[in-house]
Amino acid sequence: MKKRGKVVSFIEDLKNGATDPYAYVERALEEASRKDPVLNIFITMKSEVPDKLVNGKLAGVPIAVKDNIVTKGLRTTCASRILENFVPQYSATIVKILEREGAVIIGKTNMDEFAMGALGTTSAFGPTLNPINTKLSPGGSSSGSAAAVASGVVDLALGSDTGGSIRLPAAWTGIFGLKPTYGAVSRFGLISYADSMDQIGPMSSNASDLAYLFSIISSFDPLDPTSSHNPWGNRIEEIASKEPDFDLLRKLKLKIPRELLNHPQAEEYVIEEFWRKISTLEKEGAQVEEISEPILLKVPQVYYVIAFSEASSNLARFDGVRYGSRIAELEDNDWDSYYMMNRSLFGWEVKRRIMLGAFILSKGYYEMYYSLALKARAVIKRKIESHLKDGSLIATPGSLISPLPINYDATDLSKLNAIDAPLMIANLGGFPALTVPTGSVSGTPTSMQFVGPSWSEDKLLSLAKVMEEMFT
Ligand code: GLN
Repeated sequence: MKKRGKVVSFIEDLKNGATDPYAYVERALEEASRKDPVLNIFITMKSEVPDKLVNGKLAGVPIAVKDNIVTKGLRTTCASRILENFVPQYSATIVKILEREGAVIIGKTNMDEFAMGALGTTSAFGPTLNPINTKLSPGGSSSGSAAAVASGVVDLALGSDTGGSIRLPAAWTGIFGLKPTYGAVSRFGLISYADSMDQIGPMSSNASDLAYLFSIISSFDPLDPTSSHNPWGNRIEEIASKEPDFDLLRKLKLKIPRELLNHPQAEEYVIEEFWRKISTLEKEGAQVEEISEPILLKVPQVYYVIAFSEASSNLARFDGVRYGSRIAELEDNDWDSYYMMNRSLFGWEVKRRIMLGAFILSKGYYEMYYSLALKARAVIKRKIESHLKDGSLIATPGSLISPLPINYDATDLSKLNAIDAPLMIANLGGFPALTVPTGSVSGTPTSMQFVGPSWSEDKLLSLAKVMEEMFT
């Protein structure tokens, strides 16, 4: 095996007494303090090495955590002014798991405000820059988590993915990212954006560590009513340490949605590079079939109607009474003004989405937009399921376009639509989806995305290991 997991190797060395248990964390903190001033990776950073390390599967392993996952005693802002001073009184289940296994959270990463965005530029704390080229966006909304991994600060990070927010930044920074099956990772303590699609997932510099982290964080949580037991036993952990299984390629069936590859905004070199990689996989035994599903071009529209609606409801709790900073005084029992003043702390993108969501859910428009979107969601899910039921995976480029400039005007939705269409399929259907880097063209990272049926992460992660060996 050419590529060994860095975390997996560290843990092995630690067991054999071959490494200083503090070395990994110390190095990460040092790198973080060097890279953060340039890239703006973290909103809140730790500077001290902990006095005592907990013994576990991630003992002494540094990790970066997206700032929409609550951490007891450690500020959690969602990159919003409204939560600028919010210090949670409890930790998300996922954070408890990490701590129980000895991981060291070295900081809370920058992101689009409330995970709304694709470029990392709606953060109230300023944008994160792409470590590959600081004039470019690293992709969002898990922009800081991707930059933390891609810049070499850490090998593991947690992101969240409602409509591509793990996979787009993974594609644009050249790292690995997995959006798990809905219900595979606890959402207890993940601050909701659109909770029927939100999922926490791992991001990593390499395929083995991606699988290793996923094996640890995927478990049933009674505190999350949408959580499920997974069917894998030890399989995912074994994938992390095993040799890549090239036999997989001879059993691999890939379906490629024609309409997505012909997207009017897709860049030519991206599509050419994608087909080159597909033909290499084909030579190794994979079966490839093009499929036609015009409805997939409507995926972003369906997603946004649902996401805005859920967001307008989920973000109602930030009113300065239940949650959020209180900047107004209540005068003459005028609760409306009080509420509006406090909520003026939201940034423009969040306000836009709350207002549109409230409109969509209002009487009359509910039936016209929201109910219709739910029906379309069910149709899209069924169509994708019918393509996946013979054991196929859907393959697309990780992004149909190159990373956009950091100062890109995000009100121009044409390009953003091209980013969203391939990625949001997985969120609408609850399917797992993986983005793997496949090298670069003139310094720009290229990638592939694979969508599988629910609970096919074992297959996706095995494929990630094979792809890593072949293409990076
Ligand atoms: N770009 C998408 C949005 O703005 C995805 C966000 C996400 O996955 N959190 O909704």
